[in-house]
Amino acid sequence: MILEKTVKGVREQVKEWKRQGLTVGLVPTMGYLHEGHQSLIKRAVEENDRVVVSDFVNPIQFGPTEDLESYPRDLDADFKLCEETGAALLFNPEVDEMYVGDFVTFVDMDGVTKELCGKSRPIHFRGVCTVVSKLFNIVTPDKAYFGQKDAQQLAVIRHMVRDLNMDIEIVGCPIIREEDGLAKSSRNTYLSAEERKAAVVLSRAIFKGQEMVKAGETDGEKVLQTMKDIISEEPLAKIDYVEMVAWDSIEVHHSVDQSVLVAMAVYIGKTRLIDNFIFEK
Ligand code: AMP
Repeated sequence: MILEKTVKGVREQVKEWKRQGLTVGLVPTMGYLHEGHQSLIKRAVEENDRVVVSDFVNPIQFGPTEDLESYPRDLDADFKLCEETGAALLFNPEVDEMYVGDFVTFVDMDGVTKELCGKSRPIHFRGVCTVVSKLFNIVTPDKAYFGQKDAQQLAVIRHMVRDLNMDIEIVGCPIIREEDGLAKSSRNTYLSAEERKAAVVLSRAIFKGQEMVKAGETDGEKVLQTMKDIISEEPLAKIDYVEMVAWDSIEVHHSVDQSVLVAMAVYIGKTRLIDNFIFEK
């Protein structure tokens, strides 16, 4: 597997693959890879001739008080995981390779970025859309893979690709969880042993909400209240948001009369964790 640090190097390699008539899949990540990321890479390897994994902690998607500096990194372990999983190239640029000194162009969005994480993290999706657009331009993939773990991000990227006529198929992949239900996340490493135990409250609330909706409950308020009550019982947990939105528009919608996304962000101590379920109708 190739480790590439430059945009030019990625471009030359991808051009060569395309000259040979090979298809290219892209898996954008911020590194510190786990089985969640690996499931995306596996799927990409199954569906494309060559797979590029990007490993870049994107500074412009972090707010000033967020965890950019402390975000975990381990390039050697990431390289091994990508190689074992069958990726062809790991793109790990430095910040100044992606953002030259006078960088001033951003991809910004309305609508789908208004609620949920867009509300608590005002500049987040502008940073995500900008870096993903750049990665799409650098790699020019046929398909790109995103986890449902970040469901709003998946919706945002699908809208961006549609709105800007990007010729890329976006593939959404299911949430991979620990045995006790906690969604796998690079940020789980921040948790102390006690916090790790407490963190299971997120998936407990998600599973309960999902069960209610599957059993026919259509009152969003009831579902959300039950979920909030479960989280409130855990002293180490502090709710950022627990919300139900229409899956197509990501607008608040408290009735299960169409496909909905039920999403939450919860602080366990200082660590902000997210989880969700989608109910398709
Ligand atoms: P990140 O490195 O956290 O930016 O994540 C990179 C990609 O991996 C995103 O598309 C995430 O949604 C996806 N991902 C992260 N954790 C999981 C998980 N537990 N299950 C499925 N996909 C995930």
